[in-house]
Formats: sequence, structure tokens, C-alpha cells
Amino acid sequence: MSDDLLELSAAQGAAAIAKGELGAQELFAFYRERAESDASADGDGLNCFTWVADDARQTPLQSGPGWSDSPDAPGSGPLAGVPLAVKDLFCTKGVPSQSGSRILEGYRPPYTASAVQALTSAGVTLLAKTNQDEFAMGSSTENSAYGPTLNPWDRARVPGGSSGGSAAAVAAGLAPWALGTDTGGSIRQPAALCGIVGLKPTYGSVSRFGMIAFASSLDQAGPLTRDVTDAALMLRHMVGLDPCDATSLDFPHEIELPRAERLDGLRLGVPAELRSLDADAAGGAGGGEGGGEIEPGVREAFERALKLAEGLGASIEEISLPHAPHALSAYYVLAPSEASSNLARFDGVRYGMRAAGAEDLLDMYTRTRHDGFGKEVKRRIMLGTYALSSGYYEAYYGRAQRVRTKISEDFEAAFASVDLILTPTSANVAFGLGEKTADPWSMYLSDYFTVPMSLAGIPAISIPCGLSGGLPVGLQVAGPAFSENRLLDAAYALEQALGFEEGAARV
Ligand code: GLN
Repeated sequence: MSDDLLELSAAQGAAAIAKGELGAQELFAFYRERAESDASADGDGLNCFTWVADDARQTPLQSGPGWSDSPDAPGSGPLAGVPLAVKDLFCTKGVPSQSGSRILEGYRPPYTASAVQALTSAGVTLLAKTNQDEFAMGSSTENSAYGPTLNPWDRARVPGGSSGGSAAAVAAGLAPWALGTDTGGSIRQPAALCGIVGLKPTYGSVSRFGMIAFASSLDQAGPLTRDVTDAALMLRHMVGLDPCDATSLDFPHEIELPRAERLDGLRLGVPAELRSLDADAAGGAGGGEGGGEIEPGVREAFERALKLAEGLGASIEEISLPHAPHALSAYYVLAPSEASSNLARFDGVRYGMRAAGAEDLLDMYTRTRHDGFGKEVKRRIMLGTYALSSGYYEAYYGRAQRVRTKISEDFEAAFASVDLILTPTSANVAFGLGEKTADPWSMYLSDYFTVPMSLAGIPAISIPCGLSGGLPVGLQVAGPAFSENRLLDAAYALEQALGFEEGAARV
């Protein structure tokens, strides 16, 4: 039976439990044991988790303003009994929520994030918290204070980031599905590098309440799953207006489970500017060395996907997103600016650790932030504080905001002539541990294809589209705001046609 359980997608698990063919406890116990063995492997595991539940009853349920006042115990509802792994940065009541940072070590919040609450109200059980780059800053999960997560396809390589623990856990079969967040690519890029599905919804469609903030105008929660159907199923139960998040929205329609087999009549756009990795055009923000090429194996897999899409009845057109090559430069002003403000709250007074031996209050703040934050977080705080400082604000932040508007306008213009846009998710397959840590610009380039959609607030999904050198390649499909149903349908049809061997990296 155990191997059969591993074969079940989350949707299939939920269906089996609903029909009484499978016990919720049995499924939880099965995954708990797998997650626990990774967590207790002492260096020999993938290091996907920062905490594993002892019992399904540790699933936080909460009521109060902004919460659906469901009296349901975990194990009832449409997702009844399906275990969920949750990125560390989601506050979960009474459970460590450290955002991959030393400064929040041991922090157990008194409340639960709305996205997690929505899923537990639908019946999921909390299986584990997953490893991530500190405060979601990174593309490799090497910036975690709790050590890097390894890629189950090749343990000498990174799983991508910042939701690397979530992506690796799903790819390795240590969790049926997982929750992540995406600010500039942190769901899509690790999904691509681990050979799974990752969806960043339209900004605002999922509440950010209780997500430990990185860059509030960009952060968005979304699913990391084995297949497109599971992504739709999870999203369906996450979207909606939340009085606790003023930027959340009432999603205009129900999220449907995808069924399309063909793409007849669908117009797909391939941006000319995203056919190569021409970051020179962006001036190599931060004095970086500029571009680099899309790996040949990634390019081949992408071209194959385009042919398959045509075979399914879609038309492919070249489109233009003239400002997309500047997206990364704008992002690396805007995201650190917001982060420098959001992270000001970690001062040793209100949350987590406090450095010992301080002489006075200022010294306590300084020592706590010195000891508690890692190198990348400090870099971003300095960049952001500089960009926002008086005299520079217009030159950096103001200008980056104008670039952001131009990028949104580019997408609007493009969606007048095409329905969806296709790009590779990442220019490369999973890279080696340590390979990019010394060169932040080369790490930042990991998000070259994902950041434009984040700046525009539009939805995008990454699905596996083959292998290059034995490692997974991701295909990104993006659409206009609230086009999730169309996006999921197209991704589903492509998923069937692409025929990726899901499950090849299970441990
Ligand atoms: N890799 C990008 C960064 O480091 C995006 C991270 C994210 O989406 N959270 O900022």
C-alpha cells in the first residue's frame, strides 16, 4: 500500500479519503514518516524541513475577525486529510515560523496566516514547515540560516529558491504538495529546477496576512505541486478577499479544475526580448557583468514545447515586451527598498532573538541585527536604505517605479494581441551548490524570466517541459490578471502533451 500512497496526487488522495477508501490518519502517518526521516537524517537528507509535525492535531485552526469561522476539525472539508508542507515564512500558530532566519529562531506566532488558515479550513493537515532562503531573498535556498536544501535530482545541486524546501519536498515525494511564496520567481524557479509545477497567482488574489513580509507589493502565496490539477485545486481554496489584508481581492470567479486537451484558437506570444538573456540591455544593475545565454538544452526543450503547442492547435506569435530587459534592475531597487522597511521591525524587542551583552538600547538593536541577519539580507537592507534615502529617492526608487509601470503597459499591449505568453522559467537547469554564491549578480539573473510578471502583478505558472542533461527544465506560461482558469487549462493541455515523467526524483 505504501508505494500506492506515494503515487497519489493530492487531488487523488483527497478523493480516496472522501470515498472512504483511505484513512486521513493513514495518509498523514505515511508522509509524516517520510518527512521525519529527511529531517532526522543528520546531514544525509535533503534538508527540506525546519519543523515536522508529530501529529495531525498540531494543525492550527483559528477563528476571529477575518477568519472563516469554521468549527471544522482538521480532516473535514473538500481537502480533508491531505497533508500540506508550508514554507517557513507563513505564520502558523504555536509552530516555529522563522523565515529561514536566525533572528526569528524559536519564534512561534500567536496566529496563523490567512492562506494557511484557508487551506486548513478546507481540511488539509499541517505536515511540516519547509526550508527557504532567509526572508525569501535568494534563488537557491543557500541563504537559509538552517543550511541549504539539496536538489533531489542531484544532491550536489541547488533546488532553486527561495521556496526550495517546498519544491524539493514535493519532487522527492516527502510531501504531496506544498505552499510557497513568489516575490520575483520564488515559486516558479524552484518548481522548474525540481521538475514540478509552481503557480504564482495574480497579485492580491491570495491574502498576505501572516506571511512574514519581504517586499509587500510583490509577495504572493501559491502552490507547488506534482501536477497542474493539484495547483488548481489548492488555488481554488486559497483565493479570496481577507479583511486583514487591504491589498487582497475578491477573485472574480471560481477556480476550475483544468480539463482542456487542445489549445485550438489560443494565441501564444513569445517575447522577442526574452529569447535571450540580454541583461546587458538592463545595464547590469549594480555594476554586474550583464547577460549570459540560455543553456542549449533549455532552449531545445522550450522550442519543443512551442511545437507541441502548435500541434495542439495554438498559434505562436512573436511579441515585444520592450522594457522587460530592465525588469531585474528595477526589481533590485524596489524589492530591497520594501525589504529595508519591512525588516526594520526585527530589533530584538518584539520578536525572536535578542543579542546578549549590549551596553544600551542602540547597542542592543545593532548587535541583534548584526548577529541575527545573514549576509544577503544585510546587503538588501543596505541597498534599500540607500535607494530610499533623501536625495536619492527620485533617482532610484522613483525611477524604478516608472520602469515598473512601463513593464505593466508592455504586458497590457501584448495581451491585446495574444492570450498567453510563453518563456523558459529559468535560463538554466539546477546549478551546483556554491556555484553562484560569490557573485550576487549571477544569482539575481536566475529570475530574469520571472521578475517581469511579478512587477506587473500578473499570474504565471511553471510546468516541467523535459530534461536537459538529466535535469528538469521549466516552461513558464503567463496571462493577464485573473486569467488563472485559462492559464491552468493551457498548462494542463501542455502537461499532457509534454508527458514529463513526474516522480522520477522521489527518494
Ligand atoms: N530570487 C529573487 C530574490 O532573491 C526572488 C525571490 C522571491 O521571489 N522571493 O529576490
